[in-house]
Amino acid sequence: AAMRDEHIEKTKTVCTYCGVGCSFDVWTKDRKILKVEPQAEAPANGISTCVKGKFGWDFVNSEERLTKPLIREGDEFREAEWEEALALITSKFKETKEAHGPDSMAFISSSKCTNEESYLMQKLARGVIGTNNIDNCSRYCQSPATMGLFRTVGHGGDSGSITDIEKSELVIGIGTNTSESHPVLATRIKSSQKLKGQTLFVADLRKHEMAERADLFIQPKSGTDLVWLSAITKYILDQGWQDQEFLNSRVNNLGDYIKSLEPYTLEYAEEVTGVPKDTLIFMADRIAEANTVCILWAMGVTQHLGGSDTSTAISNLLLITGNYGKPGAGSYPLRGHNNVQGASDFGSMPDRFPGYEKVTDKDVHAKYEKGWGVSIPKEPGLNNHEMIEAVHEGNLKLMYLKGEDMGLVDSNLNYVHSAFEKLDFFVVQDVFLSKTAQFADVVLPASPSLEKDGTFTNTERRFQRLYKALDPLGDSKPDWQIIQEVANSLGAEWSYEHPSDIMDEAASLADIFAGVSYDRLEGYNSLQWPVAADGSDQPVLFLDEFPFPDGRARLFPVDWTKPLEFGEEYDLHVNNGRLLEHFHEGNLTYRSKGITSKTPKVFLEVSIELAEERGLEDGTLVRLTSPYGNVKVECLVTDRVKGKEVYLPLNDQGEGAINYLTSSHADKDTDTPAYKEISAKMEILREK
Ligand code: SF4
Repeated sequence: AAMRDEHIEKTKTVCTYCGVGCSFDVWTKDRKILKVEPQAEAPANGISTCVKGKFGWDFVNSEERLTKPLIREGDEFREAEWEEALALITSKFKETKEAHGPDSMAFISSSKCTNEESYLMQKLARGVIGTNNIDNCSRYCQSPATMGLFRTVGHGGDSGSITDIEKSELVIGIGTNTSESHPVLATRIKSSQKLKGQTLFVADLRKHEMAERADLFIQPKSGTDLVWLSAITKYILDQGWQDQEFLNSRVNNLGDYIKSLEPYTLEYAEEVTGVPKDTLIFMADRIAEANTVCILWAMGVTQHLGGSDTSTAISNLLLITGNYGKPGAGSYPLRGHNNVQGASDFGSMPDRFPGYEKVTDKDVHAKYEKGWGVSIPKEPGLNNHEMIEAVHEGNLKLMYLKGEDMGLVDSNLNYVHSAFEKLDFFVVQDVFLSKTAQFADVVLPASPSLEKDGTFTNTERRFQRLYKALDPLGDSKPDWQIIQEVANSLGAEWSYEHPSDIMDEAASLADIFAGVSYDRLEGYNSLQWPVAADGSDQPVLFLDEFPFPDGRARLFPVDWTKPLEFGEEYDLHVNNGRLLEHFHEGNLTYRSKGITSKTPKVFLEVSIELAEERGLEDGTLVRLTSPYGNVKVECLVTDRVKGKEVYLPLNDQGEGAINYLTSSHADKDTDTPAYKEISAKMEILREK
């Protein structure tokens, strides 16, 4: 893939930022990154990229990169050689396992790392240490969507391709700020709307760019999406507008499901959500009439107490209207990080092996014990939410975390930080000394995507290869090599020479990856799982059957869970989400000049009404206080939010970090934090 052109190397890579999975050639000379050049053959993006993919690479050569292992001495870190760091890790791991057992240890994989690296992390936890305490950050975002889809259709991924969305007659976006969070995907929708007459409905709290462009924009009250979705579904059934043929031939449980919808009348929905009944009737009519409907959703749906149930309600509506198993229709839970899909796909979950095969399934368990030649615990482990609780309870003593800044992205940060302080031993592996790494006992220097080979899986279940463009900086190493060294220092005898060896092993064990190989993924070639042994893949899922024993989907009754209430004192609801220019906790983008020159910091969006009431202007410095902590941030007055709704982008690393406000309350089915259910009070610290 790397071509020599007068000392300029052109190497194919995949974007390190969002789940759209744009791929492109990166031009480098020595260590300089000259430019990013998209190619028409790139499956998800063609010749497009957004500002992050194009200009977000300066971090790779940042002077703040970790180039040596660090070992804590009191309040300081000192640089160390790999041998010393590994020896310390080995002795602490052995000591802890002996004293407290394997389940006193926990592992966090990363959605910024490759599939192969997530595979190895769970193999280290399960096969070398002997615990299923392994998780990844999809617990913070799309686990509820995966749950909703497992319940109803059996696969937890987008049911079609990104390019399929263009074929849809009606696209509905719920709780997704698509233009900023998944920019290139949003561009495709915008052009389909303009050129092909596609209809776009948007439901959100905030009038973002997609809402401005929508043919219909509704603003249901926070945490009430399940109610209007269920009311629309009920109305469609009451009118007899359902796809009865599809239901008869492909779906179970219609009777029970219809009964469960009884409370969701249009009147009730109007009362709870604030969306007028006539608007709901109009939506039901258009949904039933359209030949193809896609529903896109993201954190606005999932990060609630009832996130899994609302995701389930979306899938139920798609089933009732026959919108699965054909191009241009289906479910699109949009994945955040570039490889958050892959981190779960490859088994960094406490209850699933790679390919979502259950830890508790006897045959699956036996297959892995035989494949790896070790014994593996049978009970599911702790998820990352439970890990923090277990540290506070004194049951979890040691954590090994790679590539996640849990100390900024988990909810209720003060609580999380005090857990980190309680750990006996904490290993953090990252590219920078992140907020989380500052709590570590040992910090291991990892390499970012441009310095390694591997594969990423984007939001549409698509495997794509990335090729090494640069050598690892200093003594940093690709994560897969580090994990292998840790495993071998603990007595394993792994001998992976290249990530392709790891993929071959994963493909030999996980049914849905059976035909995945580096040869089939050469260059811009890609595969969308499930991939059969002969290499055939599935751009559109469920064409003939659903992956249940009888091949039929299941309608799954759900109830509405009221959002959290905080009392009158905390009078402002704090919505949160991404900014276009920055990515999550910002460790990469704040170190990329091309980005920070445009957007140096975050701001709190306040409504015109609130600004008038409180005397706020652009630049007024305020403190927001919730029952869990406080943030300091400057205001921006805008009509994107209304009334007592404020919006704080989640991309601050300091005093404005949103998760000082959020609570430990979580989705009842997956433990995904209810980040979107937080209220706060405001005081002015400095006039403009
Ligand atoms: Fe594409 Fe997302 Fe990267 Fe932007 S951030 S270039 S949309 S993958």
